[in-house]
Amino acid sequence: MSLNTRQTLRKTSLNDSIPSEIYAILASHYGASGWWPGDSPLEIAVGAILTQNTAWVNVKKAIDNLKSYGMLDVEKLFLADLSELAALIRPSGYYNVKSRRLKNLISVIMDRYAGDLDALLSRDLDQVRTILLGINGIGKETADSICCYAADKLAFVVDAYTARILQRHGLADIRWVYDDIQSMFQQGLPPSIEVYKDLHAYFVFVGKEFCLSKRMLCLECPLRDWMH
Ligand code: SF4
Repeated sequence: MSLNTRQTLRKTSLNDSIPSEIYAILASHYGASGWWPGDSPLEIAVGAILTQNTAWVNVKKAIDNLKSYGMLDVEKLFLADLSELAALIRPSGYYNVKSRRLKNLISVIMDRYAGDLDALLSRDLDQVRTILLGINGIGKETADSICCYAADKLAFVVDAYTARILQRHGLADIRWVYDDIQSMFQQGLPPSIEVYKDLHAYFVFVGKEFCLSKRMLCLECPLRDWMH
C-alpha cells in the first residue's frame, strides 16, 4: 500500500494510538535504551553533529579523540584551530565540514551565551530549536537530537530508519515530511522525555538489526506482528 504524507496524517488522526502501540512493543523487546551515550550535554551536542551521515562507531572514535586531548570543552573548542579540530574528528568522516559545523555551534554558545551551553539549553523548546536551526549545518534531526537528549525537551527525533519502518508498514510514503512524522508521534505519545528518548533509539535499533535498507528480517523483528 502506498500512502502519501497527507493521507498518512488522515490515517493517523483516526488512530492516534499507533505511536504508543509501537512504543509498547519495542519497550517490551528492548527495555531501557540508555540512548544517547554521553557524559555531558556538550558531548551529546557534539555527537549529534558528528553522527551526521556516519555510523556511531565512527563517532565514538572521534569523541574519544576529543576527550583524550581534553577538547570536550566549549572554550577549548572555540580556540582550537579548524585543521586541528578536523584532525581529531577525522574518524567521523566529512571531517572538514563537521569541524566547521562544530565551530558554528560553539561560536553561538560563546558569542550569545558567554560559553555556557546550559544557558542556551535551558530556554524553552521552541527557542532552543529555533536557535539551533539558525546555525549553519544544523538541520531538524540534529537540532531535535540536541533538544531531546542534551536538553531533555519533548522533541521527537525523526530519522531515515523511522521513515523506512513507517513506509514498510504503509504509514508513510517515500515523500515523507519530517514535521508530519514528528507531529504524528508528538501527538500520540505520552509527554515523557524517557519515552521520546527510548522510542527514537528503538527505531534505530530495529533499522540496524532487522529493517535494513535492502533486506527485511521480519520473522525475527519485534514489529513482525504489528501491521496496519
Ligand atoms: S523488518 Fe519487517 S516487521 Fe520489522 S520493521 Fe521492517 S518491515 Fe516491519
